[in-house]
Amino acid sequence: MMDAVGLGQAIKRKKIRISEAVALCAEAMRQKEPQVHAFLTDLSEEARTQAEQMERSGALLQADLPLAGVPFAVKDNISLQGVRLTCASRMLAQYRAAYTATALQRLLDGGCICMGKTNLDEFAFGSTGESSYFGPTSNPLDLRRVAGGSSSGSAAAVAAGECFFALGSDSGGSVRLPAAYCGLVGLLPTYGRVSRYGLVAHVSSMDQIGCITRSVRDSAAVLAQMAGKDPRDATSVTAPKQFAFSADIRDYRIGVWDPEEIGAEACVLRTLQAAAQLLKEHAADLAYFRLEELKNAESIYRVIERAEASSNLARFDGIKYGGTKAKAGNLAARYAAEEEQGFGQEVKDRIRRGRYYLSEGYETVYLPAVEARWKLQAALMEAFRHCDLLLLPVSKDIAPLKGTPAEYSEETGGADAFTTAANLAQLPAIALPFGVQDGMPVGVQLMAAPFCEAKLFAAAAVLEKNAPNEIKRKENVHTI
Ligand code: GLN
Repeated sequence: MMDAVGLGQAIKRKKIRISEAVALCAEAMRQKEPQVHAFLTDLSEEARTQAEQMERSGALLQADLPLAGVPFAVKDNISLQGVRLTCASRMLAQYRAAYTATALQRLLDGGCICMGKTNLDEFAFGSTGESSYFGPTSNPLDLRRVAGGSSSGSAAAVAAGECFFALGSDSGGSVRLPAAYCGLVGLLPTYGRVSRYGLVAHVSSMDQIGCITRSVRDSAAVLAQMAGKDPRDATSVTAPKQFAFSADIRDYRIGVWDPEEIGAEACVLRTLQAAAQLLKEHAADLAYFRLEELKNAESIYRVIERAEASSNLARFDGIKYGGTKAKAGNLAARYAAEEEQGFGQEVKDRIRRGRYYLSEGYETVYLPAVEARWKLQAALMEAFRHCDLLLLPVSKDIAPLKGTPAEYSEETGGADAFTTAANLAQLPAIALPFGVQDGMPVGVQLMAAPFCEAKLFAAAAVLEKNAPNEIKRKENVHTI
């Protein structure tokens, strides 16, 4: 299996030409797209031209750019100037981006080649990729199943060999969940690590651009390329971004969420135990912990997410951006008609709830959720005084079959039960496959204190190196 860093090295050593790598991805797109539907906009022709230009000039290949010449894909809620930016919504079906997102620009500056824009749940609201206005994405490992969401197309494109890595956005798990469902590595960076300029806002206090890759070292390489302060995003920070890591966790203390507190399928608990056992052999210390606050994460998230989303999506009124040219008598009626026709049901439900939370429900629903959020963050920060990393599941089960109704309850949560805590507390987290059930990957997740991504990579590299053989065999699907 070749990962993005491996391809970058092969290109520099002239073992493979950039245009060959692009042609392989384009061929995979031609073969797989009719079933997988990972892409909303195909840029493979532009990629071919860019590859040829790069080969002719050779300039980028001389520089120390580990990912130069590597084909990648971008979730269609991240702006690329002049290219359609749909957020998988009818509202923006014809909209073209006016500028390029900083994180994406940094990858392009590093010589990466964009193969296209990928499918998602409409406006990144979802966990299965099925709410896209343009139709669902299928999981390349089993076409009957979802690829996860909301970065469904990004995960599917990498898993199907249509690109070597992909960007997604993660506000409540949207990078980690699809990565886990597709047997890949998904990274949520610390809030502020990566600029949000050019990412369509969803939950402004939680949104981060993350990456879906085939290996842990790819995750570190992509993060290093796109991270850093951006004058255009006041919440972005200056932080060292050298992730020279080794799979050495000898000094680490690891906390594992007590399986007794976790409501998940047996395969998830088994995989968590196996990962804990392995980390125990390599780390200084490993202990099980219980954290009452963690259990509330998804219900807190569901209030704050809807509140912030309702405010952020108010700009899509059908007049300023995109729209459906709805006919209506006056301006108020026009706004209402655009909302009714431009958004799918899930988006309408969420923004209407969000408006309620920020008006009648402000004191009774919104403020208590904000308070609970900061309590959860404090509890997690306290945990990180005692340990370096926390180990927990990514999802309750393997990727569900398409069309399975979403389940959620206050007690056990739903698809986002294990991913939302990191976003609420603005912490970095990584998901990667470590088990197999019914031929599908089962993931585990590691969470760290702010800006401790290097620790995530080190422990994830230990898990990756010692993953069960079935996982490694699955990875062989991605050959070049
Ligand atoms: N699944 C979550 C939701 O539906 C997360 C979405 C996201 O991270 N963009 O809100």
